[in-house]
Amino acid sequence: MKTTDDLTNYHLDSLLIHGKTNSENWDYSHHLVPPVSASATFKLDSVERGAQGFVEFAHNENPDSQVHRPIYIYERLGEPNKNILEENLAIAESGEMALSFSTGMAAISGILCTLASSGDEIIHHHTLYGCTYSLLVNWLPRFGIKTKGAGFYDIEGLKASITPKTRILYFESPVNPTLELIDIEAIAGVIREENIKRGDGRKLFMVVDNTFATPVCQQPLTLGADFVVHSLTKNIGGFGTDMGGAVIGKKFIYDLLLLYRKDFGNTLSTHSAWTHLVYGLPTLNLRVRQQERTALLIAEFLASHTAVEFVNYPGLPSFPGYALAKKQMKDPSGHFAPGTMIYFVLKGNSPEDKKEKGKIMMNFLATNAYTVTLAVSLGNIKTLVEHPGSMTHAAIPAEEQVKNGMEPGGIRLSIGLEFHSDIIADLRASLEKI
Ligand SMILES: *Cc1c(COP(=O)(O)O)cnc(C)c1O
Repeated sequence: MKTTDDLTNYHLDSLLIHGKTNSENWDYSHHLVPPVSASATFKLDSVERGAQGFVEFAHNENPDSQVHRPIYIYERLGEPNKNILEENLAIAESGEMALSFSTGMAAISGILCTLASSGDEIIHHHTLYGCTYSLLVNWLPRFGIKTKGAGFYDIEGLKASITPKTRILYFESPVNPTLELIDIEAIAGVIREENIKRGDGRKLFMVVDNTFATPVCQQPLTLGADFVVHSLTKNIGGFGTDMGGAVIGKKFIYDLLLLYRKDFGNTLSTHSAWTHLVYGLPTLNLRVRQQERTALLIAEFLASHTAVEFVNYPGLPSFPGYALAKKQMKDPSGHFAPGTMIYFVLKGNSPEDKKEKGKIMMNFLATNAYTVTLAVSLGNIKTLVEHPGSMTHAAIPAEEQVKNGMEPGGIRLSIGLEFHSDIIADLRASLEKI
């Protein structure tokens, strides 16, 4: 049944391939694949139509503006490939709206700077992707937005740290790189309680970075989050060819976010939008499910190896957050979905010794492995290994890393689509060298 009104009967696998079937965002109808739009500016049929486009831009709250096709003016304001990608991203995360950005960091800075203003405060989980940490600690305070870290697993401690100025609770789950989990429903409870005391203009919001889990392993909006952010560069893009970011969630911020993106200018390139739309999203569930099956086998292999001290993988029953993982990480069919990321530490006499052994292992892999590549980024079809302490999380001071559960020797593995025993063979060979 072809209907754009009721998509609720379809599985996410089908929705991510077909989207809305016919989008108001572009009137092509005889292409199997959306064409690539490559026009930085658009023809305006009359001065009146141009003026109408400017009046309507970022006025989506006005219901009249949605009854006809958008008037395209200039690529930074909006263009068909990005708009269709955004429709499908909203479907993927069960959000009211989605807006794309040039990178994950552009999406994160976008939602934080539209929800919070000078004088407001953001509380974030203490361990975060390094650039997000740097944005919160080094940049936002320069514009009068106060930020402070807290342990989000400690619900009572978190409640105590909220003040009337707090506007946003920000975290990742699973946390990059430790894979520690935060209970999204419990945080939603804290926010609900706090918002009873507040007026409408002063609500507290939850923003969750869902990059590690992806929408096919976890749906934060349905668990009570207000906004989800993504680095499309990772598992949603999947093939490692294009960067991108997205904010998905409640509609009330959409117009302000559009204006922010227009004026700060961090627009996703049209070609990257097309890539994520045509290759990334439609294959997301298929890739993640296969990577996840392999990840469990790799995690079991590492956990049973005598050189390994511990392995954090949400799918291992020995994982400290296993019960929470089973509660909140689910695939589109409702099955347990622990994801594709692994964090582990080697045995050693001291933290420095563990770090040194990890370095030997990773250098061996960099030179000798066929299936495991030493590189930052994650969620790629190729298996990637890296040392967060000195790479992706180098922006967090070493003492802070250790205080908040990052081991100096911690190693992050992102599992790809290679055959599982080939990955295990490469890892086994590298573990023999330490
Ligand atoms: C990579 C990453 C980001 C930043 O995304 P970019 O696309 O590199 O800007 C944000 N959050 C997490 C969890 C990431 O892994």
